[in-house]
Amino acid sequence: MLVVKKFGGTSVGSLDRIKQIANHVVKSYQAGELQVIVVSAMSGDTDKLLALAALASPKPHPRELAVIASTGEQVSMALLALHLQHRGIPAFSYTGWQAGIVTDTDFDKARILDIHTQSLQCALAEGKVPIVAGFQGITEQGDITVLGRGGSDTTAVALAAALCAEECQIYTDVDGIYTADPRIVADARRLASITFAEMMELTSLGAKVLQKRSVEFVGKYHVNLRVLSSFVEGPGTLITFEDSPLMEQAVVSGIAFSQKEAKLCMRGMPDHPSIAATVTKALGDAGIDMDLMMQQCGIDGLIDFTCTVPRQDYLTAFSLFEECAKTLNAREVRGDQQIAKVTLVGVGLRSHPWIAERMFSLLANESIHLQLISTGEIKISVVMDEKYGELAVRILHEGFELAKYPDEVHLS
Ligand code: ADP
Ligand code: MG
Repeated sequence: MLVVKKFGGTSVGSLDRIKQIANHVVKSYQAGELQVIVVSAMSGDTDKLLALAALASPKPHPRELAVIASTGEQVSMALLALHLQHRGIPAFSYTGWQAGIVTDTDFDKARILDIHTQSLQCALAEGKVPIVAGFQGITEQGDITVLGRGGSDTTAVALAAALCAEECQIYTDVDGIYTADPRIVADARRLASITFAEMMELTSLGAKVLQKRSVEFVGKYHVNLRVLSSFVEGPGTLITFEDSPLMEQAVVSGIAFSQKEAKLCMRGMPDHPSIAATVTKALGDAGIDMDLMMQQCGIDGLIDFTCTVPRQDYLTAFSLFEECAKTLNAREVRGDQQIAKVTLVGVGLRSHPWIAERMFSLLANESIHLQLISTGEIKISVVMDEKYGELAVRILHEGFELAKYPDEVHLS
């Protein structure tokens, strides 16, 4: 049985921790398991490298940024390989390009296009334990790229798909996927399983436990993915597909929380069919993701267009909004960076329409004003003043009794 295992930044954060991970690899090796290990950079290292680059140039070129950012993983992979070799395990490190990971040319948020698995297949056939640097790849032209923050998750899932591994295991500093970020909700509960669709919503809407693209790969290639603790043994959380008998029948599965967005609003435009097209093109061309888009007509017959963008893109997005405002004859552009987005996620939302009412009542009882609401088949997102975000997560967690197992909850 082949398993691809990824160890995150905190899990390789010091030599002691690397040795702890090595215990796991040695145990599995001795039990005869075939394994490919993917590692992140030691926690904090990538940030330090990027800060150094920013000191070298105020506007560093993305090609060179990818070169420097990709070095962190090479340190941790070599340290793990060295220590494993010292313990008699035939471990060998592989950079992303040595592992055959080919990406597009978007240097800092590259997408994996292909994986040439020959070198890893040969290593496995020879009984070696490959240790692969996460987060990095190479373009067809031979330039180094990185896969965006959290990209090692995607390296692991993509390798699991390409190597037809039995399972992809993501080892991290929590022992699975929880009903909410355990750093915010003390009594959050570990889920035994979560559906792919729910995981997709949770990661898209703020739960940083997995990179969104890694979950997309899970869906595309039906990879069996499990999230586990690097330090404590346990079953973790398995991502399932909806026909799976393992599915927990909770009405609400989890709550995602994001404080990394900002809101933009263009107000008072004469009605025109091209409003949304103009704004989305301007931001899309600049590579800015938009969410919670809303267009409405006020009683004065003029149109307002609102959306959220990643907070790091706020200033660029604001000036693009101002340019669009001129073209579209808008009266004003407004923005707010102090917002939080809280999202309730669950496949149960399809069959329980009262959930929305319960959610809004719970928030209203605490006098939390809602600025935007967006609903989907299995999610409801609300945007509020940033200072109420964590409170809202806790209130909803309690109100929907998420700390309890689904069969103990009798909500309706
Ligand atoms: P790694 O460095 O191993 O990739 P990350 O920091 O990227 O780890 O992801 C793990 C963190 O994700 C946890 O420490 C936790 O605070 C956070 N997190 C957010 N939402 C959830 C959730 N629903 N379940 C578990 N962890 C969550
Ligand atoms: Mg991560």
